[in-house]
Amino acid sequence: MGAQAIDGAAVAAKLQERVSEETAQFFDERGRRPCLATVLVGEDPASHTYVRMKRRRTAKVGMESRHIELPADTTTTELLATIEKLSADPGIDGILLQHPVPQHIDERAAFEAITPSKDVDGVTMRSFAAMAFGEPGFHSCTPGGILRLLDAYEVELAGKHAVIVGRSPILGKPVGMLLLSRDATVTYCHSRTSDLADHVRRADVVVAAAGSPELVRGEWIKEGAVVLDAGYNPGNVGDVDYIGAAERASLITPVPGGVGPMTIAVLLEQTLVAARRR
Ligand code: NAP
Repeated sequence: MGAQAIDGAAVAAKLQERVSEETAQFFDERGRRPCLATVLVGEDPASHTYVRMKRRRTAKVGMESRHIELPADTTTTELLATIEKLSADPGIDGILLQHPVPQHIDERAAFEAITPSKDVDGVTMRSFAAMAFGEPGFHSCTPGGILRLLDAYEVELAGKHAVIVGRSPILGKPVGMLLLSRDATVTYCHSRTSDLADHVRRADVVVAAAGSPELVRGEWIKEGAVVLDAGYNPGNVGDVDYIGAAERASLITPVPGGVGPMTIAVLLEQTLVAARRR
């Protein structure tokens, strides 16, 4: 059996098109554009690329983008002051602090300085609690993107066994919460899990979010399982052995062009929601 590839680029383009149309409507009604503030600390080249992509797509859907760049030696206090100012600024609808910040900064404290009504990247404890409790709130963007892909391909989740490989606060943990809220039975695996293969073999839905190239082997995949690969490693390699897994899965995301394109589309969708609520 050969898997169908999930076309994340197409699903993201469609979502972005809708956001673009609704942003134009918002402008007609309110006479202003939704505004996303991006905060970047330090010189990490990958982070600079990600923020550039986010700003470009923000402008493309007709939103305003405000960008703040801080030097690598910024202190936690200075970063908190910047974010608190944006939180209080009536001209800003959403705030994105690019992860990771330099190691000496307390990243959790910086995220928590984002007021929940502007947390369009879904990184605060309040947003996590909303995902965990199944209450309305902003999704962490990559997990939100994964859920939207599953919906676009009409994957039934209730009663299914979902295995998440990874438990980071912005990816693994929240994606598990979102799947749980859809009545999936969720197993979390991480670096201390004793038999990863054994868990993955029993999964109807596999979410790979470990940041380890081709960690999930094709032969571990149950016949007909749905495989979502959030991993993005150097050389455009995912966390799943794509060729092996595609022989057994029913649906699978390629890398690139699967989960990746959804993240920014969800960020923009949530920025529009934040703007409407204000
Ligand atoms: P992270 O913070 O480094 O977390 C990785 C998680 O994977 C940790 O929970 C870790 O376990 C677990 N892990 C690592 N090696 C493992 C192993 N051999 N077996 C089982 N579990 C293992 O990474 P992240 O930020 O969640 O990102 C994960 C991947 O997703 C990366 O490739 C990243 O580039 C990608 N990503 C993509 C997007 C996007 O597509 N837009 C967005 C964000 C991230 P411990 O908790 O025990 O350490």
